[in-house]
Amino acid sequence: MTDSAEARVLIIGWDGATFDLITPWVQQGRLPHTARLIAKGAQRQLLSTIPTLSPPAWTSLITGKNPGGHGTFDFVRRQPGTYELQTVRNHLPSLGTLFHWVSQSGKKVGVLNVPFTYPPEPVNGFMVSGLGASPQWEFTYPVELRHELLAQGYAIDFPIAYRQGNDQAYLEAVLTTTRRQADIALRLMRTRAWDLFMMVFTGIDQVLSFLWHHFDPTHPRHDPALAFLGEGVLTLHQLLDTILGEMMEVAGESATVVLVSDHGMGPLYQEVFLNNWLRSRGYLVTREMPRPATSYQRIMRRLGITREGIWRRIGRARTQAIKNRLPMSWQRLVPTEHPSLADHVDWERTRAYSFGNIGQIYINLAGREPRGIVRPGAEYRAIVDALARDLYELTEPQTGERLVDAIYLREELYDGPFVEQAPDLNIIMRNYSYITQMRRELASHELIAPSTNMSGFHRREGIFIARGPAIAGGAYAPADITAVTPTILHLMGLPIPDDMDGQVMTDLCVPDFPPPRRLSAQVQSLAQSSAPALSAQEEEEMLKRLKDLGYLA
Ligand SMILES: [Zn+2]
Repeated sequence: MTDSAEARVLIIGWDGATFDLITPWVQQGRLPHTARLIAKGAQRQLLSTIPTLSPPAWTSLITGKNPGGHGTFDFVRRQPGTYELQTVRNHLPSLGTLFHWVSQSGKKVGVLNVPFTYPPEPVNGFMVSGLGASPQWEFTYPVELRHELLAQGYAIDFPIAYRQGNDQAYLEAVLTTTRRQADIALRLMRTRAWDLFMMVFTGIDQVLSFLWHHFDPTHPRHDPALAFLGEGVLTLHQLLDTILGEMMEVAGESATVVLVSDHGMGPLYQEVFLNNWLRSRGYLVTREMPRPATSYQRIMRRLGITREGIWRRIGRARTQAIKNRLPMSWQRLVPTEHPSLADHVDWERTRAYSFGNIGQIYINLAGREPRGIVRPGAEYRAIVDALARDLYELTEPQTGERLVDAIYLREELYDGPFVEQAPDLNIIMRNYSYITQMRRELASHELIAPSTNMSGFHRREGIFIARGPAIAGGAYAPADITAVTPTILHLMGLPIPDDMDGQVMTDLCVPDFPPPRRLSAQVQSLAQSSAPALSAQEEEEMLKRLKDLGYLA
């Protein structure tokens, strides 16, 4: 079935897993299989991409490339030639993935639920796309597998979205879906040939995003009466630990087992409205709202009567109930707080704008942006410098404390064919406990507000734990997320394409293991092309999913 049992590699992804939680639970004996993996294996922090978001992070993990090399920086991007928002899509065959190179060598791969792998890549084996795909689409390679999986009850996403108040039901849905995904994965592992099997579980990221305040008594939104809901965080880790044990058993003692996350997690406190700040400093200029333009609606907004304001006062569930009974024309009488950035900004007078999650700022650059006004070269440089200076002065209105820890310029982070699409500045505020989110701004002049939906958010420090015949145990210094793919290729005895940015983790290989071999990237005849666009209906469906996940207001 396989040419060498030693070379078999099982990669399990726990999206959002952090040593901050895992290490104490391992020490307390609550995660026995993870403990076994750590006891015999190597462990280190895995440093995620900037922006620290699942789409760029997983894409870097499976390609060995920085985001400038694969073109995915966020869940969303600017639709080419416009300032409109569009969901991202990878075109895996042109990226040179781990799965491509393993397939090329004649070895068999099985890939399940890795985020942002839609459309699935034709591999020597099978691939089931994860987050970012819909079960209505052809989300498997080969196509026939889709029917088999759906017949077994396979789900890509959790069946219900988190809403304040449905914590218990949400957690139950995550646990049930995770268990079912794992059962189907175990069946595939037992019945199909594979040399490399990779499966990602997305529950930890989601549950920690929404339930963090329940188990963290220091979180401002913590309510001791609801602290029991926080126990679900451990329950989910224990379920994943059990599944890890089951998968290790199917893989066999001689297999290499790698447990990774795309980023860590920590508390989220505030949302910062960077576009409002840019407007207050004159970098961004807004137009009078083109729509709704009636004086009646202007008065409503001035009085603070908006759809979102009503929602905040009476709760989402009751708003929904009222909406269901009101005709659309009546609903439109109440203006929204979320005007589209593309429509609301006066681009001819705007030099910089924020787009996307966490703290990305783009310069309105002539020649790149459709209505760019900043000339490349000295003028661009001067604005970037001024912005960085002003951003470091940004303070929290109540305490006067500085918000910005670090600012990364595009050339510090990215290299490769997609650099043009990268944010010009990435801002990290209070170690990710303050973030910017799309579209919750511009209708007000607020600078900062407590986050209402999510209470946890990403941190750069993810996990990497590995055990296998070629791996020397111990604790190692942090490595970059791009190191995973070249390291797996090396452990499988394969050469490393020289267009990968990541370095092989030679430090954790046993002393007599041969040194890495390089493969000239010229060997690949991979066309640099972009993924096919989604239909309007598919795009709509994706935007709705991203809202459910908390990444769009
Ligand atoms: Zn993630």
